[in-house]
Amino acid sequence: MKVKVQVIIESDGGTAETVENIVCLERGALQPENLGLTFAEAKAILAGAQKTMVDRQITDYLKQQACCPHCGRRRLRKGHHILVYRTPFGKFRLRSLRLYHCVCQPQSTRTFSPLAHLLSERTAPELLYLESKFSSLMSYGLSVQLLQEVLPIEDAINAATVRNHVYAVGQRIDAELGDEQVFFNDGCERDWEQLARPDMPLTVGLDGGYVHSCAQRSRKHGWFEVIAGKSVTDDGTSKRFAFVNNYDEKPKRRVFEVLKSQGMQPNQQVTFLSDGGDTVRDLQLYLNPNAEHILDWFQLTMRLTVMRQMAKGLSVAGTELREIALKELERIKWFLWHGNVFRALETMDDLAMDLDREEPTAKEVTLLKKLEEFETYIRNNAGFIPNYGKRWRYGETISTAFVESTVNQVVSKRMVKKQQMRWSQRGAICCSRSAPVS
Ligand SMILES: [Zn+2]
Repeated sequence: MKVKVQVIIESDGGTAETVENIVCLERGALQPENLGLTFAEAKAILAGAQKTMVDRQITDYLKQQACCPHCGRRRLRKGHHILVYRTPFGKFRLRSLRLYHCVCQPQSTRTFSPLAHLLSERTAPELLYLESKFSSLMSYGLSVQLLQEVLPIEDAINAATVRNHVYAVGQRIDAELGDEQVFFNDGCERDWEQLARPDMPLTVGLDGGYVHSCAQRSRKHGWFEVIAGKSVTDDGTSKRFAFVNNYDEKPKRRVFEVLKSQGMQPNQQVTFLSDGGDTVRDLQLYLNPNAEHILDWFQLTMRLTVMRQMAKGLSVAGTELREIALKELERIKWFLWHGNVFRALETMDDLAMDLDREEPTAKEVTLLKKLEEFETYIRNNAGFIPNYGKRWRYGETISTAFVESTVNQVVSKRMVKKQQMRWSQRGAICCSRSAPVS
């Protein structure tokens, strides 16, 4: 059996004008692998159909440009050059004519290239979309391999072009963002109160992750911070965002726009939850007058759990010190759960004194060091520790464990897990920008 695939192009009047043979497929006895099209055949059909269509569309377009639209006189040709245009179904070298403007109208230039002007981007929007989408999920090189595997684009793309395209897309999205401001939400409180009462509060979780830098000059410069966040409305719809803190010029604006797109009003209650790092805390200030900032309970308990494990490992000097440490840590957790920072700090002092013995063991020294770090952490974030127990009883959010997964998706999966992958800050920001938001 022979299967012929043709492209037939009809003019607007309905008469067939072009008949182009694309492929002729032969089939013998039916086998699982020859039922329907093979990948190679499908790619050949796509490439053939695309070429026929592109050729015809370009020919028609240049025909339309041949004469002056005002007086109908034929435009003179000055020459031509080759224009390379990439589509998802092939790279085309198009003959782009340079024409003289007709003298019947005043013009700022003598000549022009209609095709070069029309196709100023040189890459089809759908190909740009695919490149950005996949390279936000995996490396540029793998994205190229995937697209080449399934589309007839062989040499049309390579890792460098894809990277440049993703940068360009990221920059374009950035350019659409308004200017950075110190305060958002203009107007006064009286005006805000006039607004319709908004629905339930928005919850925004922020967390940072560190990414391996491609411009490593020293150990210290080997990493940079990426902030990832997720904002969730009461009905459960969520949006994610991410940015490179030291690189981004308008981080507040970015978060503000995400919240606005989720219907945030100036009189809306917004709860920010974070691990208390300086960057994330500074960011969330000034975004909304009704915002409250809370230290993430998840982050708090994680640190306590680590210390609990260490305390369990204490054995020398009998079990007494171990029991005391475990009991004190439980009390610290209890006080923090009820927002009683004062008593929590007091208990930390007590425990520190118990651990600070003459000739302490290595394990005791490590636990003491951890405890001191924790104390500083709690002191720095004291203003952001609410009565978690009360909030929990009222069904209010106390943890961003849900953001952990965002950081994992935006940062770890794409940028950290593969340790061999190094990032430029620009690359990271463009990638996080063009990552599909859900
Ligand atoms: Zn004219």
